[in-house]
Amino acid sequence: MHYFDYRRGKLYAEGVSIERIAREVGTPVFIYSAKTTRRHYRAFDGAFRGAKHLVCYSVKANSNIAILRLLSKEGSGFDIVSGGELFRVLKAGGDVRKVVFSGVGKRDDEIEYAIKKNILMFNVESPQELRRIHSIARRLRKKTPIAIRVNPDIDPKTHPYISTGLKKNKFGIETELAIKEYIHAKQNLPWLEPIGVDCHIGSQITELSPFVEALKRVVKLVNFLQSEGLNIGYLNMGGGLGITYRDEAPPHPSSYGEAVIRETGGLGLTLIFEPGRVIMGNSGILATKVLYTKEGSLKNFVIVDAAMNDLPRPSLYDAYHEVRPVVDKKRGELTADIVGPICESGDFLARDRTIKEVEPGELLAFMSAGAYCFSMSSNYNSRPRSAEVLVTGRTYHVIRKREGLKDLIRGEIIPEGLE
Ligand SMILES: *Cc1c(COP(=O)(O)O)cnc(C)c1O
Repeated sequence: MHYFDYRRGKLYAEGVSIERIAREVGTPVFIYSAKTTRRHYRAFDGAFRGAKHLVCYSVKANSNIAILRLLSKEGSGFDIVSGGELFRVLKAGGDVRKVVFSGVGKRDDEIEYAIKKNILMFNVESPQELRRIHSIARRLRKKTPIAIRVNPDIDPKTHPYISTGLKKNKFGIETELAIKEYIHAKQNLPWLEPIGVDCHIGSQITELSPFVEALKRVVKLVNFLQSEGLNIGYLNMGGGLGITYRDEAPPHPSSYGEAVIRETGGLGLTLIFEPGRVIMGNSGILATKVLYTKEGSLKNFVIVDAAMNDLPRPSLYDAYHEVRPVVDKKRGELTADIVGPICESGDFLARDRTIKEVEPGELLAFMSAGAYCFSMSSNYNSRPRSAEVLVTGRTYHVIRKREGLKDLIRGEIIPEGLE
């Protein structure tokens, strides 16, 4: 469900036309709907009413501080994967007591930053990291809460790049070893406080069964650890609930909620979730302008002013984003590759796509572009990154200015002697 709809043949975000934003802010431009974001957050959070729980929005999905502020005001905590994301949460006024820190490669400075700011807990991903956090906690003389991210060896049946809970993936610690590490922490690492068990099996998961399988394994582990005298109060199921890009039919958060509560009811645990895509994916679109059309003998091309640096998912995961005309009028159809200006054949936003015929100067909207799009964007080909806009009702706010040419070379230095 989202609030991007046609009114009299023109595409709107809530009460603002996309044409108007494109005219006033330029293209390419990411446009987010505040009402959609809130709706998704509330649907997710509401699914766990009746269970003690904390939603920690996954910052990497869309890390604009205006989005973080909006979610923080809804009561959300945050799942971070870097010191940079912690900085963003703090700048957005997020509650640091609701922050969990995941990731396989936390640096010393990032660990120290997070300990000093008193985050809720670290999700520890290796035995070496456990010892590293302990030694930093000891030096700072701060007792530090942790969960171990276990790798439950579950196939989430999603794209291999976003499967994270299989033994061959780099994430988490296998269950048998995790048990040893929990006991080692309890006995020998006094500056750590093991308070949770964590797992995250992947992203864009469109069935319930992998979640339920993982949950059963993790609940067993929690029971065992409790019987060993560990004081485990939190169970973190990570993120991963999928969305509809094309014709996927992922479970509604409420079915996910029912399944989770069925498996964990009565254990007295506080549940943590780290949703990203399901909150932001369908809360945003990318509006882009057609620059040229070109007919080849094998293929037609529609060349637009957005490229793989703006919308990396098609070239990275062969992902599908629905394409809609911003002004919908009667016309013929055309099958084409929709491509950007970047000098790579991998620079496509849609391939062999049948759309309504378009002419240079017209606008197209790439739907479902609220998660893992701007946050993955880059300056490749020295393309300034696009603007981001947040629509609230009948007004809109620029929440990130379009980059200019000076932004492209910020921090670059020509050394003496090359002058
Ligand atoms: C990316 C990530 C998430 C969010 O995943 P979504 O599929 O966007 O919900 C949650 N937890 C961890 C540890 C992650 O790496």
